[in-house]
Amino acid sequence: MNHTALRLLLVIVTLLMPLEAFAKWETVNVRGTPYVTLNSIKTFYKFSRYSREGKSGILTNSAVKMQVTINSQECFMNRVKFILTNPVVEHSGRMLVSQIDLSKLIDPVLRPSYIGRAGNFTTVVLDPGHGGKDAGARNQYGRESTYNLNVARKVRDILTAQGFKVIMTRESDRYLTLQQRVNIANRYRNAIFISIHFNAGGRRKARGIETFTLSPQGVAHYGRSVRASDHKLQNGNYHDSANIALATAIHGRTLQQTKSVKIPDRGIKRARYSVLTSVKHPAILLEGGFMSHPVEARIIHSPSYQYRVARGIAEGIMRYQAAVRR
Ligand SMILES: [Zn+2]
Repeated sequence: MNHTALRLLLVIVTLLMPLEAFAKWETVNVRGTPYVTLNSIKTFYKFSRYSREGKSGILTNSAVKMQVTINSQECFMNRVKFILTNPVVEHSGRMLVSQIDLSKLIDPVLRPSYIGRAGNFTTVVLDPGHGGKDAGARNQYGRESTYNLNVARKVRDILTAQGFKVIMTRESDRYLTLQQRVNIANRYRNAIFISIHFNAGGRRKARGIETFTLSPQGVAHYGRSVRASDHKLQNGNYHDSANIALATAIHGRTLQQTKSVKIPDRGIKRARYSVLTSVKHPAILLEGGFMSHPVEARIIHSPSYQYRVARGIAEGIMRYQAAVRR
């Protein structure tokens, strides 16, 4: 990382935190990446307890339990799994979390009411992925495009009954380009955007629910290394904090709703899908399970599971609204 980028990061972190508290942050540079100590996270966010269990560090207070593990990118906050940009490291006996993970992930999750621009959204744009000539994933039971639409309709019904204004990018089995989806969403003001998908791949072994939000500037698409274009500021980056808060609420509620059928948690991840880069609202993309997994394929096909996913999304939206409201 060059000097300017590092300075920018420090500025971002500083802006998020009151100055007097910032003076207390213990920062360490690890191979060019700025990190902060878990101890200073404990102090700043007023955790009452910091314990070590093997390679894991656990911070707790009455409201939150946060767990990170040395050499791991997994971070749990109240049992919701987040995939960090940089692995947690140990340095002179202290556990360290990277500053970009602190400012772009941990802080907005721990302090959602500090999120700028989240404001009061009035419209929910639901985007059932694929459609028409593009079925998305397929298996012996059905097409992803149908499942996506089924779930979106159920979310719409729940939210409409709660008084939300809901827009669907498609209401039937029709084909839309990604740009058309973005254009529909960007016609509205004060909105949030939820793209609904089901997964496939991983040689029939992969399974579980995962939620994507746009990678912050300088952060790669999940599983790829950083490209030059990753440093460009995208529309969606104006909502980095809101994106992660929205993902947290929806991912957490969806896992809760699907708990009885034991769908694994693949975590909240960063991606550069074009709907996430170009939509001008807080946005997430949810993958509600793997159609390529023999057990999950059957579960996904059942209307009761589709309803659980829909309930999770709708409840997550309501939670998010309550969390960001000042
Ligand atoms: Zn899809």
